[in-house]
Amino acid sequence: MPQYNRQTFDQVMIQNYIPANFIPVKGKGSHVWDQDGKEYIDFTSGIAVNSLGHCPDEIVEVLKAQSEKLWHSSNWFTSEPTLALASKLVQHTFAERVMFANSGAEANEAALKLARRYAVDNYGYQKSTIISFKQSFHGRTLFTVSVAGQPKYSDGFGPKPADIIHVKFNDLASVKAVIDDRCCAVIVEPIQGESGIIPATAEFLQGLRQLCDENNALLIFDEVQTGVGRTGYLYAYQKYGVTPDILTTAKALGNGFPISAMLTTTEIAKSFSPGVHGTTFGGNPLACAVAEKVIDTIADDQFLTQVNLTSALFKAELTKLNEQFHLFKEIRGEGLLIGAELIEKYQGKASDFVKVAAENGLMILVAGPNVLRFAPALNISEQDLLQGVDRLTKTLKCFA
Ligand SMILES: *Cc1c(COP(=O)(O)O)cnc(C)c1O
Repeated sequence: MPQYNRQTFDQVMIQNYIPANFIPVKGKGSHVWDQDGKEYIDFTSGIAVNSLGHCPDEIVEVLKAQSEKLWHSSNWFTSEPTLALASKLVQHTFAERVMFANSGAEANEAALKLARRYAVDNYGYQKSTIISFKQSFHGRTLFTVSVAGQPKYSDGFGPKPADIIHVKFNDLASVKAVIDDRCCAVIVEPIQGESGIIPATAEFLQGLRQLCDENNALLIFDEVQTGVGRTGYLYAYQKYGVTPDILTTAKALGNGFPISAMLTTTEIAKSFSPGVHGTTFGGNPLACAVAEKVIDTIADDQFLTQVNLTSALFKAELTKLNEQFHLFKEIRGEGLLIGAELIEKYQGKASDFVKVAAENGLMILVAGPNVLRFAPALNISEQDLLQGVDRLTKTLKCFA
């Protein structure tokens, strides 16, 4: 047995995760190998992170080159990769201004703080209400768990930040009922990820845009999971045709190298004047060099067209599987962020499927207790996809 193994995890790690029984040691493209040399097809991409697959040659090259130039300099100095990445994000989105951080939660923390500060600067302290949605997920800092709509993640940590209202997702009437001129921001995931891959309707997002405008509230899109090509668009807002005031992006931005960004307009960005918010690592040259290459690769019409083709193929295969086994109540999602909700009989059992899939050489995820989540690399080849589907077939057979 290797010196460090799954038992080591139980001995030295804080037990806030329950990782799989196998330990991946190597990845290339959509393939992963564990300590025993067993090979897996990866339909997880490290939770929609390794969107260009594992260790893509062109990114490894950039990482190596930058690693010999400059890793970190702090935000007392800016860097060329930082400016290049920010310029490209501005070029490809609604945004005029960018601030970097290291994780999705941090980008959302920045977005929420910016919205509160913008309201204070422009309207006064009474404008502090944040409206968010039940079952939403925005990260694990105290502010972001409090804003998100899952009490299991926010209870038990003492007093929470105040003036946060949770209402029903995809239900405009419930937003109308609570929004007024004391609201500083509405924060929403265009597709609720962690709670089961639940897409917002276009009317809902359009309605939020209108309600925010009527009440001088900022609309924040949390695109931490949906961003960077995952839905077949660079950002999901571009698919919906609804432009937010603030957008957060993380997961796939560095293809596994930690980096996140908050995008906004020049006007709103004024409220983060010197010293108001900051980070030590955010926007460091190493992370930004990698992310710039990721954006160069994914913000490309041909690349995104291919994502949509792969999505159509994958959904067709899943539909066929369901005609065979009848295990899914619904298959939903956009691009390569796909959820398959299990039928009544298997409610609460999604993680059992994940275990059997691993035995069959396939890595998949859950999104809540009832939904299987598939988030393969955006550039997965048809051959790898079909091989994964084959292993999924074997897996589903065990439950049918
Ligand atoms: C993953 C996720 C986050 C949190 O990102 P971290 O990098 O884990 O902090 C926030 N919002 C959404 C929608 C996510 O999917």
